Amino acid sequence: MITLRDISKTYGDFQVLSHCSTWVSKGEVVVVCGPSGSGKSTLIKTINGLEPIDSGDIIVDGTTVSAPTTNLPLLRSRVGMVFQHFELFPHLNIRENLALAQVKVLKRSKDAAMEKGMALLDRVGLAAHAEKFPGQLSGGQQQRVAIARALAMDPIAMLFDEPTSALDPEMINEVLDVMVELARDGMTMMVVTHEMGFARKVANRVIFMDRGEIVEDADKDDFFGKPRSERAQQFLSKIL
Ligand code: ATP
Ligand code: MG
Repeated sequence: MITLRDISKTYGDFQVLSHCSTWVSKGEVVVVCGPSGSGKSTLIKTINGLEPIDSGDIIVDGTTVSAPTTNLPLLRSRVGMVFQHFELFPHLNIRENLALAQVKVLKRSKDAAMEKGMALLDRVGLAAHAEKFPGQLSGGQQQRVAIARALAMDPIAMLFDEPTSALDPEMINEVLDVMVELARDGMTMMVVTHEMGFARKVANRVIFMDRGEIVEDADKDDFFGKPRSERAQQFLSKIL
């Protein structure tokens, strides 16, 4: 479904990604962890073309992301992305937030988009909040709306970049619960997170990055059993 082959990227002299290769198969959940500045956000953003790469190949559902003919807006609608900050449109109510890209990008009718949006709001437990504006919701609620908004595009995969790290502790679980359910429903997911409880519950594989390299890419049980590299062992001992 998603293949990264030997990708590298520099910012000036700084090598942010160095020969990274990995994959996410259909229905798989891959968790990406590693120290701050190791390149996790950059890596995940290359997958939908938000970060261009210097070399290597990224193939999403048969499409080479960096090919000049690739329709990036369409690709981005097919690969949903949820960031640390919720990035809802503040001037639109929740229902309109959910409908906008469906109408603009997928050319759905407004009625169909609203109906789809309401069904997804219900799925994330927020149907009662459809008429509110983002600023009237808690951080955890806004993040669940952001997930619903991405799902409204019928994505083939979902990318998450630390979706719970800006949330107060009591709101983390309500967002993780939605993600666990999504994983169990078979969504293909790549998730940057330090929530190792989530990783243990639903990840198939765990990738550990350090200094722009994929240092470890292992089945979940192997990773938590005992990571092979010392750097990953140290990292785990600090966060577990
Ligand atoms: P964190 O856990 O803090 O989110 P990360 O693993 O997601 O970190 P990235 O955001 O991918 O790390 O950044 C990797 C490195 O690249 C960092 O050292 C960062 O300072 C650098 N970097 C990121 N974006 C740019 C940019 N636009 N220009 C220059 N350097 C950048
Ligand atoms: Mg990051």
